[in-house]
Amino acid sequence: MKGKVAAMTGTREVEIKEYDVPKTDTGCVTMEVIKSNICGSDIHMWEGKHPFKNHVLGHEMVGRVLELGEGVTTDYAGEEVKVGDRVVPVYYLTCQKCEACLNGHFNICTHGSDFQGQHAEKYPHFTGGFATHYVIQANQYFYKVPENVPDNVASGANCGISQMVYAIDTSGLKINDTIVIQGAGGLGLFSSAISKTMGANVIIIDSIDSRLEEAKEFGADHVINMKEFDTVERRINEISRVTNGKGADFVLDVAGVPAAFDEAVRIAKMGGIILELGNVGIDESQNVSILPGLITRKCLTVKGILRYQPWYLHKTLQFLEKYNEQYPFNSLTDRSYSLKESQLAIEKAATKEVTRAIIEPNKVEKL
Ligand SMILES: [Zn+2]
Ligand SMILES: [Zn+2]
Repeated sequence: MKGKVAAMTGTREVEIKEYDVPKTDTGCVTMEVIKSNICGSDIHMWEGKHPFKNHVLGHEMVGRVLELGEGVTTDYAGEEVKVGDRVVPVYYLTCQKCEACLNGHFNICTHGSDFQGQHAEKYPHFTGGFATHYVIQANQYFYKVPENVPDNVASGANCGISQMVYAIDTSGLKINDTIVIQGAGGLGLFSSAISKTMGANVIIIDSIDSRLEEAKEFGADHVINMKEFDTVERRINEISRVTNGKGADFVLDVAGVPAAFDEAVRIAKMGGIILELGNVGIDESQNVSILPGLITRKCLTVKGILRYQPWYLHKTLQFLEKYNEQYPFNSLTDRSYSLKESQLAIEKAATKEVTRAIIEPNKVEKL
């Protein structure tokens, strides 16, 4: 049987390549990809700003089991799996042997990207989500998708949503705490719903009206429009007003701009906690000045978070099973493309003509 992948062949260049779908090796699972989201980091790679080259694009996906390798009878939560079941893999690997893994930090395993980043020509070829098939490796966590979670929602579970569930669940957020979320993009909306279900008071800051409207649907108690509250001081005053002078116990940065971190340090209350996820660039253009004395004097805790511990994908699927109808997770995709249109889809996503694009590699190919 033949299958196709959308591989990067150069900066801003995607080519559709065809390979034989290999027989499933021992311990592995071959799935047919149902849907695959275009994530910000896929765009980052396509623009050539990432070390991955000539790899198969896509890592946020949901698929259907096509063949189980010898020895595979359950997912990583011990639930029985059969051909035809919908599953979601954790998109990175855990080697269990590197310094990070030995200390239990599986989310920052040094070899986490070995499989995802490999050359498309290399066996087993189906190593990314923009493809008709995907091979889940023998040591790669994967979970069955609960029946009531639609494909559109499940396809985003293994990246952004799991990362936010992990960040918030491990942050120490408690009932009635106030969390200020900087940025009402996908990550901001997810974190609003998650914090809300944990009993927190949610405030979201953004400058785009439509995003702030969405934030309310995702449970935000208060929204702060940067066009109206146009200085850091005004925003701090507004946070103080809506919290009756208490301030922000937590500030979560998912804005994606360096200046947001400086603002987080200023916003957080005495003894507050800053969760930093939005800044991922580490070149000098991302440099920003902050007042370190504020961290000392306010006794702030700053926590950086990359990926998530792999079992958090299971917690996330359970969270979605419970809440995907209460919050409009299913409305977040605005356009779908075939695999052949991968290049176009990424272009539209990169220029923000389409905010949340999804690729359906099999459905459209068969038409
Ligand atoms: Zn992603
Ligand atoms: Zn490792």
